[in-house]
Amino acid sequence: MPKGVLLTISAPSGTGKSTLINMLIREQPEFGFSVSYTTRKPRKGEISGKDYFFVSPEEFTRLIDQDFFAEWARVHGNYYGTPGPKVLDALNAGQSLVFDIDVQGAAQLKMNLKTGLFVFIFPPSLKILEQRLRKRGTDNPETIRTRIKNAEQEILKSSLFDYWIVNHELRTAFNDLKSIIRAERLRSVNFPGLPGRILNRE
Ligand code: ADP
Ligand code: 5GP
Repeated sequence: MPKGVLLTISAPSGTGKSTLINMLIREQPEFGFSVSYTTRKPRKGEISGKDYFFVSPEEFTRLIDQDFFAEWARVHGNYYGTPGPKVLDALNAGQSLVFDIDVQGAAQLKMNLKTGLFVFIFPPSLKILEQRLRKRGTDNPETIRTRIKNAEQEILKSSLFDYWIVNHELRTAFNDLKSIIRAERLRSVNFPGLPGRILNRE
């Protein structure tokens, strides 16, 4: 069985990572999405269990105490965490999983998993990032200000990632993402015994 790809994508809020992840899952349905837990309130149209598991701060604290999370972090004033059991199941079954998590969470996951593909997506500029957040229309002006301020810090920590993509033109960014995944799948460790099979072929 080919090894699954554990793909972590981080980017400042509004860069376009949900858009890119949705495109990827539509085109490559073998990728499961790691649904996180959060104390943030649902946005219009968000579904519990699909976008996030929306929980109270008390419930989140209880889950931390039970060591339920593979990583968790406080982001933009709310708590977010990746459920550990789902990650272990994917690892054991060789499934591909995509994580949409912040930079602090990615650092924890990198340390805990010791494997996986870590991709950071940049907006073309902070000005364009602000325009995208405004156009998305899901956050109030104060939330947008917090997210832009945090974007600078996140960009300054981007060096922990294996690959960088600038999401200027969506199609190009998507092709870049697919190329990285393709290269990961072509690693020699994913083809044990291939030379022998080639040499023994009629
Ligand atoms: P994130 O998940 O990183 O917070 P979203 O995927 O929600 O960001 O994208 C933020 C907004 O920017 C959305 O309205 C989306 O349609 C738009 N967007 C994403 N990528 C691009 C792009 N390359 N060019 C223009 N707009 C984009
Ligand atoms: P949003 O509120 O826009 O959905 O997400 C805000 C930020 O939280 C994004 O940077 C997103 O990647 C991050 N995030 C979402 N889920 C998790 C998670 O499980 N863990 C961590 N560390 N960050 C997360």
